[in-house]
Amino acid sequence: MSNGLIVSISGPSGVGKGTVIAKLREMLPDCGQSISVTSRAPRGTEQDGVEYYFRTREEFEKLIAEGEIIEYDQYVGNYYGTPLTPLLTMSRGGENVLLDLTVAGSLALKEKFDETVTIFLLPPSMTELQNRLTGRGTEKEDVIEQRMANARGEIESAPKFDYVVTNRTVEQAAEEIAAIMLAESCRYQRRSDAVETLLAK
Ligand code: 5GP
Repeated sequence: MSNGLIVSISGPSGVGKGTVIAKLREMLPDCGQSISVTSRAPRGTEQDGVEYYFRTREEFEKLIAEGEIIEYDQYVGNYYGTPLTPLLTMSRGGENVLLDLTVAGSLALKEKFDETVTIFLLPPSMTELQNRLTGRGTEKEDVIEQRMANARGEIESAPKFDYVVTNRTVEQAAEEIAAIMLAESCRYQRRSDAVETLLAK
């Protein structure tokens, strides 16, 4: 059995990565999801261990020192990082894993694991992105402005990704990502065992 894909999705804040990932998990119930550790405070109804593991900066730095965080980044003044052990357990158990990471996070995972597939999620337009950020109603205006400024820089990194998907509707974006995952799982390198088994008979 080959390892599960590590599917890392990046894109500007507010583009809908979380919603698209939730849709994908509904469509592909065997798919796992990495829960990140962050030093930012919970928003709205967010719960520890569900959306994120919420930790202090000091606790986060301790996890890095212990080698428990495979990649991390700082975003709008907070740490965000991927716990190593659950990611490896899922992928080595053959489970495809979805991640929602900053651009640097996706590119770091690509360097570290051959199983990584990077996908950049684009908004249909910058106006639509701003509307989505404002409509979410969870951030103050200065944070929204900071996120819009970051968005431009992030979109300039799209050429470094394996795939680009525009999030016009949640269903369409999730279907495109599911198609990418299916095609990636059929790559020769991931099916070589099947070929060798047939030839060995
Ligand atoms: P938010 O505060 O909106 O939940 O997340 C802010 C940004 O952090 C998003 O762009 C999200 O993709 C990114 N992010 C969440 N978890 C991780 C992580 O573990 N590593 C990295 N590199 N980025 C993360």
